[in-house]
Amino acid sequence: MARRDLYAILGVSRSADATAVKKAYRNLARRYHPDRNAGDENAAERFREIAEAYETLSDTEKRGRYDRLGPLYRPDGRPPSPDEVTDWVTDTIGSIFRKRRPDQGEDLRYTLNIDLEDVAKGGERTIEVRRQCTCKRCAGFGAEPSGGQKTCTNCDGSGRSGGRRLFRGQCPHCDGTGQVTVNKCTDCKGAGRSDQNETLRVRIPKGVATGQKLKLKAKGNDARTPGQTGDLFVIINVSEHPLFQRRGSDLFCSVPIRFCDAALGAAVDIPTIDGKTSIKVPAGTDSGRTLRLAGRGLPTMGAARAGDLHLCLEVETPTKLSPVQTKALKTLTKTLGDEAYPRRAAFAEAMRNRS
Ligand SMILES: [Zn+2]
Ligand SMILES: [Zn+2]
Repeated sequence: MARRDLYAILGVSRSADATAVKKAYRNLARRYHPDRNAGDENAAERFREIAEAYETLSDTEKRGRYDRLGPLYRPDGRPPSPDEVTDWVTDTIGSIFRKRRPDQGEDLRYTLNIDLEDVAKGGERTIEVRRQCTCKRCAGFGAEPSGGQKTCTNCDGSGRSGGRRLFRGQCPHCDGTGQVTVNKCTDCKGAGRSDQNETLRVRIPKGVATGQKLKLKAKGNDARTPGQTGDLFVIINVSEHPLFQRRGSDLFCSVPIRFCDAALGAAVDIPTIDGKTSIKVPAGTDSGRTLRLAGRGLPTMGAARAGDLHLCLEVETPTKLSPVQTKALKTLTKTLGDEAYPRRAAFAEAMRNRS
């Protein structure tokens, strides 16, 4: 019987790290352990195969040698037999036509709504996601742990069809696994995975912006058969703020001020991202004047410098005046000559000769 690919035996990708290899091995070893499968020769054979694969793939040096030699690799260093050389050649050519990649679990997305205050402070959030997890009872195989699987009779457990021809395909009866399910797992009804809610902690980086993605490695769906778990992408959405508009790390805020305060000058309360403060509006402030508070904007991701807070002062003209107030304003108006309105005076001068 042809020797199967060690990565395929453990159901991990060739780039799987030591932790993933160990995890896959533990799952499979638990499932096929002789204690749980008394008298099942198939399971015993699988257990031996899994242990052998793990022995090589868990050892950096042996794994490196296996990666270079492929199926020609022998744990004991013995040169390969001519028969095995044939296997390797056909496998390699075959792989050009069929990509033998272990199943990968789907990546998941989660939109996390945060406030501008969270952008300023950073911090942690707890989220609940629903992800497909490998069924614990059947380790994702969908078959009952004891006697749920039998060796595929179509390929005699080799996982390949077409005998010893040059291009041998994957056995269609067992999808190349060499095993077929005869009794579905009672927990997952054969699906191998089930929906589970999981509570996760997400770290919000300071200065994060809408649309940015935070990757939570291996928090997506588990693979359908043992393989790599997908990732979870948390997509940031910063809610609109009632007071601030954001441009990069700068914040903008429109501040309405009373027209008498604009004329006389006054201390005015203004919001900051972490609370509020008071600023001095100078006497004679025009509408539209912008004051800048350096460093009072948002933090910049990966940089020490924070943005600025821009305050756009908008002079508010009083409305709904009483007769007494109207009279008072008219009296005031008569006392204010061109010297009080130099811009208006210059404007009138430029208009003078127009017909
Ligand atoms: Zn088969
Ligand atoms: Zn199951």
